[in-house]
Amino acid sequence: MDAEQLREYGHRMVDFIADYYKSIESFPVLSQVKPGYLAELLPESAPNDPECLQDVFDDILQKIIPGITHWQSPDYFAYFPSNSSTAGFLGEMLSAGFNIVGFSWVTSPAATELEVIVLDWLAKMLKLPNQFLSTGPSGKGGGVIQGTASEAILVVLLAARDKILRKVGKKSLEKLVVYASDQTHSALQKACQIAGIFPENLRVLKTDLTSNYALSLEVVSEAISSDLSAGLIPFFICATVGTTSSAAVDPISELGKIAKAFNMWFHIDAAYAGSACICPEYRHYIDGVEGADSFGMNAHKWFLTNFDCSVLWVQDRSDLIQSLSTNPEYLKNKASLFFPSVVAPRTFSLVCFRLIPPPNDQDNGYKLNHSLLDAVNSSGKIFLSHTVLSGNFILRFAVGAPLTEDRHIKTAWQVLQEQATTLLKDY
Ligand code: PLP
Repeated sequence: MDAEQLREYGHRMVDFIADYYKSIESFPVLSQVKPGYLAELLPESAPNDPECLQDVFDDILQKIIPGITHWQSPDYFAYFPSNSSTAGFLGEMLSAGFNIVGFSWVTSPAATELEVIVLDWLAKMLKLPNQFLSTGPSGKGGGVIQGTASEAILVVLLAARDKILRKVGKKSLEKLVVYASDQTHSALQKACQIAGIFPENLRVLKTDLTSNYALSLEVVSEAISSDLSAGLIPFFICATVGTTSSAAVDPISELGKIAKAFNMWFHIDAAYAGSACICPEYRHYIDGVEGADSFGMNAHKWFLTNFDCSVLWVQDRSDLIQSLSTNPEYLKNKASLFFPSVVAPRTFSLVCFRLIPPPNDQDNGYKLNHSLLDAVNSSGKIFLSHTVLSGNFILRFAVGAPLTEDRHIKTAWQVLQEQATTLLKDY
C-alpha cells in the first residue's frame, strides 16, 4: 500500500468507525454469540490472495461485530468503564502511524521525553506532591506508563521486595509479608505469586459494612504486630482508592503513617477512581498520598484514553531501576554506553559486521567500530545499532522495514563506506 492508497483507505476506515459510533446503540451491548462461533465463520487457513477493503468491512460487520461487547456503548454499565474518546482514538491513529518502539531514549527521544513531561502534567492535575514529579525537589521521583494497573502493582512489589531484601538479605524472602484488604484487586495476589512472596504471607484482611469495606486500621496494626512477634518482616501495604467491588476507599493518610513507622513500602492503587481525583471536589480522597511510595491510576479506565495506559508514579525511581533494569549490549547507545565486540553468520535478515582495523592498530578494533557507528548514526541518513559478541564490538544491520527497497540498502552501504574511509584516514 503506498501513501496515496493509505490516504484513501484511511479515510474509508475513519468513515467506517464514525458510522460504528453513530450506530453503536443499535447493537446488543453484550455480545450474544456462543463460544467457538468464529471458527465456523472463518476459513481454516489464511487466504492466499488479498481481499478488497469493502469485503473486509463486510466481514467485520457480519462476523466480527456480533462477537464484540461494546465497551464504548452508552448502554455499557459493567465492570468499570474503559472509556476512550474520539480525540483519544485519533491520537491512537497517529501513534499507530508512527509505530515507535520506545525501549530506550535514542529509539525516539520524543517518546521518552513526552512520557515524562505529560506524566508530570498529570501529576500536577492530580495535585500529587512534588516528590512524585520528575522535576520535584529530590530529583528522584517521576511517572512511567505501564500497560495495566496489574503490571503497576507487580512492578512496585518487585521494587519493594528487592529494597527490603538488600537490607535483610535474600534468604529472608520467606519472611516477607504483604498486607491488603479482602477488597483489593486480585492483581495483588498474582503479583505476589510472580514475586515469589510465600502464599501464606499475603495478609488478606477482612472488611465489612461497618467500615464501608475499607481497611480497618486496627486490623492492619494487629496483623503487623502479630507478624513481627512471629519473626516475620512486614514490607508492603497495598491500599485502594475505589475498590473493584464497591468503590471503597482505604484510609490512606493513616495507612501511610503505619507504613512509615514500620519502614514498609506503601502503594496506592487508584486504578479506577484516580481520574476522578483530578476534580477538586474528589481530590480529598487521595489526601495523604504524600505518605505513599507509589501511586497508580488507569488513564484507560476513566480518562478518555485508549487501552492500554496505566500511569504509575513513584517518589524514588531508583528503586524501580535497581529492581528492573537490564542493560543488554544491543540497547546501549551514545546516550548510554559503548563497549567492544565479533561477527556472526547471517541466518535471517540481520547482518552483523565490523570494520577490520589497519594491521598497525589491531588493538583498537572496538574503538574504530564504535566510532564508525557513531559517525554513521550522526549523519542522520541511516540508523544502525550494535552488539557485543565474544567481547568484540559489532555493528548490526537489520533489514525488514516494509518500505525498504534495494536502493536504500545500496545507499546504506555507501554511507558506511564513506564514513569508514573518513575514519581510516586518521590511522
Ligand atoms: N485495581 C483496581 C482497583 C481495579 O478496579 C482494577 C480493574 O478493574 C485493577 C486494579 C486491574 O486493572 P488492570 O486491568 O489495568 O490490570
